[in-house]
Amino acid sequence: MSDVATTARGPSYGDVARAAERIRGAAHRTPVLTSRTADARTGGQLFFKAENLQRAGAFKFRGAYNAIAALPEDARRRGVIAYSSGNHAQAIALAARLLGVPATIVMPLDAPAMKVAATRDYGAEIVTYDRYTQDREALGRAIAAERSLSLIPPYDHPDVIAGQGTLALELIEETGPLDILVTCLGGGGQLAGCALAAAELMPRARVYGVEPEAGNDGQRSFREGRIVRIPVPQTIADGAQTTHLGDHTFPIIARHVTDVLTVSDAQLVETMRFFAERMKLVVEPTGCLAAASVLGGLLDVRDLRVGIVISGGNVDLASFARLVAG
Ligand SMILES: *Cc1c(COP(=O)(O)O)cnc(C)c1O
Repeated sequence: MSDVATTARGPSYGDVARAAERIRGAAHRTPVLTSRTADARTGGQLFFKAENLQRAGAFKFRGAYNAIAALPEDARRRGVIAYSSGNHAQAIALAARLLGVPATIVMPLDAPAMKVAATRDYGAEIVTYDRYTQDREALGRAIAAERSLSLIPPYDHPDVIAGQGTLALELIEETGPLDILVTCLGGGGQLAGCALAAAELMPRARVYGVEPEAGNDGQRSFREGRIVRIPVPQTIADGAQTTHLGDHTFPIIARHVTDVLTVSDAQLVETMRFFAERMKLVVEPTGCLAAASVLGGLLDVRDLRVGIVISGGNVDLASFARLVAG
């Protein structure tokens, strides 16, 4: 039998705190960076949580490691399977290797070459699919059932959400309470986990998720109070080409989040340039979502303390060069 290791209830702050214990020593405690230029430009005091410097290049390692480490011994022995456009795949592949668990990854044919190569290098078996015609969730479930593997989805899983929340836990431990926390939004694992941490540790803070303009399902879902599904959005933010929020992520977002904002691909490129030029950071387009909203002036942050997640740095050098040179 394939088993998604779900708990009956949604994850709570306690699960985030337990995840922090579980990933300690395996995940990097990434630095919190500041920029006088960004502060001067926005009038706020900005704190950037640099998950582009996380293991496997993105925050996804937190949720992946937490979810695999939480599996019972027999499930670990059989192995795990994941479907992902890249960062979750690399995270699962690396976490599985560290925990001695076999991993199978279902990846789109057009996933960035660097992400595919990195996943293979971590020792995972790769199965490809066409993201415009095939349903990766159905394919993942079919292989999981056939091989008795535990399916670890990229965002809609209590242990994944709790793991992602550890980044906000660390950030708040370091900065103290913030006025605003801004995260990147795809399927909502990052936003839901961080919102749980924020609600517990700084209940007065506003929490925002930021997604690509071309794929504003999260914004519509938040504002309409139900999960809205859209076709695969065309955007350079390949880590946020999700078509809907999850059954686990949506209720947490609906309860604890202030609003969902959107930014254009052009704003993402501008933010990539800012990070490269001013902060000497390589950030992938999806990793720029949260910062693009603040640097682009969507939120008035004057005299406020603002936490911003830089969620990942996995971008082919050729794409990076093309985008920043523009
Ligand atoms: C997956 C991913 C996101 C979106 O995270 P969700 O938990 O799906 O909302 C944002 N940025 C990067 C770099 C990612 O890999």
